[in-house]
Amino acid sequence: MNIYFITFGCKVNLYESENMKQNFVNHGYTLSKVENEADIFVINSCTVTGTGDKKLKKEIRRLKRIYPDSLIVLTGCFPQAFSAEAEQIDGVDIVTGTKNRNILPELVSEYITKRDKICCVSKYTRNETFEFMSNLGYENNTRAFVKIQDGCNMFCTYCIIPYSRGNFRSKPIEDIISEVDQLAKSGYKEVVLVGINLSFYGIDFGKRLVDAVEAVCGVNGIERVRLGSIEPEMITEQDVLRLAGLKKLCPQFHLSLQSGCDKTLKAMNRRYLTADYEKIVDLLRKNFDNCSITTDIMVGFPGETDGDFEESLKFVEKIGFAKSHIFPYSPRKGTPAANFDSQVPENVKNQRSTRMIELTDKSTHKFLESQLGKEFPVLFEREKSDGIHHGFTPNYTHIKILTKNSDKSLRNLLFYVKILELGKDCCIGEILS
Ligand code: SF4
Repeated sequence: MNIYFITFGCKVNLYESENMKQNFVNHGYTLSKVENEADIFVINSCTVTGTGDKKLKKEIRRLKRIYPDSLIVLTGCFPQAFSAEAEQIDGVDIVTGTKNRNILPELVSEYITKRDKICCVSKYTRNETFEFMSNLGYENNTRAFVKIQDGCNMFCTYCIIPYSRGNFRSKPIEDIISEVDQLAKSGYKEVVLVGINLSFYGIDFGKRLVDAVEAVCGVNGIERVRLGSIEPEMITEQDVLRLAGLKKLCPQFHLSLQSGCDKTLKAMNRRYLTADYEKIVDLLRKNFDNCSITTDIMVGFPGETDGDFEESLKFVEKIGFAKSHIFPYSPRKGTPAANFDSQVPENVKNQRSTRMIELTDKSTHKFLESQLGKEFPVLFEREKSDGIHHGFTPNYTHIKILTKNSDKSLRNLLFYVKILELGKDCCIGEILS
C-alpha cells in the first residue's frame, strides 16, 4: 500500500516524520511522492498556534472529500494536547499523539482488518524516557537533522508544548554517536542537532548539551555541526568556552528571545532577563569569530504597553540580529496567557509586527553587508537551478554562485568562496580556485 505523509510544524516534526516513513517502509509499505497515488495519509500535526489547528482540520476535510476511500492517520502534537477534540474529527481513522508512533504500522494493519476507528493517545508520565528514533537523513538533502532531546517543563505562559510533549528527556550519547556515524557513512557532511528545548539536553541523566556536541564533533566524516534553536537558560560561560573549542561547530546560534522587555519576559514566564540574554550574546560573539545570532520575537503579548514595545524594539536594535522571525501573539487555547486580561487588539499587534520587521530587516541587511569581501568554506546544497549554485557558510549565510561555464554539480561539496556582493537575503560570491 502507498503512504503519503503531510508534516506540519518544526524540524523536530520533520525528523519524526522521516523516522515514521522508514518504519513503514521496513513493514513493507511504499512511500508515495504524490498524494493522488496514496491509499493511506499520515498527518503529523503541530499545535503551536490555533491557526495551525484550523489549517489541519481543513486539510483533513480536503483529503476526505477528494479521496473518500483513503485511510487517514492523525498523529503528533495536536492529538496529544487535545485528544478528545482530535478523536471527534470526522474522517480520521487512526489517532495517536506524540507517543506510540513506533507501532503505527501495526495500528494500520489492525484498522484494515477490523475497519474500526482506533484512538491510541497515551498520556505522558513523569518518568518518561526518550523514545528511540533515528533516521538516515532525507532524500536529496545534504544536511541531516538529528533529534537529541524531547519535551519541556518550562511552561511559558503562551506555549502549549509542555502539554503536547511531556517532560524533558534526552537521547543517550551512545545512540547519538551511532546515528551520526551512520549519517556520515551514507555521505552526510553536516548535521543539525535539534530538540524541543535543546538547552536542557542531558538534564535527565547528568549531562549537558556541550557533552553531546563534543561527541558529535568527534565523529569521523562529519565536517560541520549546527545547533537548532536554543533557549538562553542553561547556557553558561563554561559551556560557551567548551563549545568554542570545537572546530566543527558552526558559529550560528538561534537564541530564542521572545521579548526585549523584562516586564513582558516575566509575564511570559521566561526565566531570564534581557541583561542575561545580552551577556550570552556577548560571550558567543567574543568566542566565535564572525558568528551570527538569530532569534524569534513575539509582539503584542497580553499586557504589552506601547512603552514595553518600545523597550523591546530598543533591545532588539542593540543586539543586531542576523535574522529574526517576528510573530504577533495569538492566544493558544489551554495556556494561561489565553485568559490574561488586557489582550492587545489585532490592529496594534499588526502595527507592532510591521515596525519590528522593518527594524530587523535593516539589521539583516547590515549583517550581510558585514560579510562582503570575506572568504568562507561553503557547503553546496541543492542542485544548480537557473544557472545558480546554492550553499551556506559556517555562519549560515546563504551564498549564490553564478557559474557561466560549468554544469558540474557542486552538491555536497565544500569550496572556498569570496563574497562579492549582496543579493536578496543572501550574498553572491565566487569560488576561489
Ligand atoms: S521553553 Fe517555553 S516556549 Fe520553549 S517549548 Fe518550553 S514552554 Fe514552550
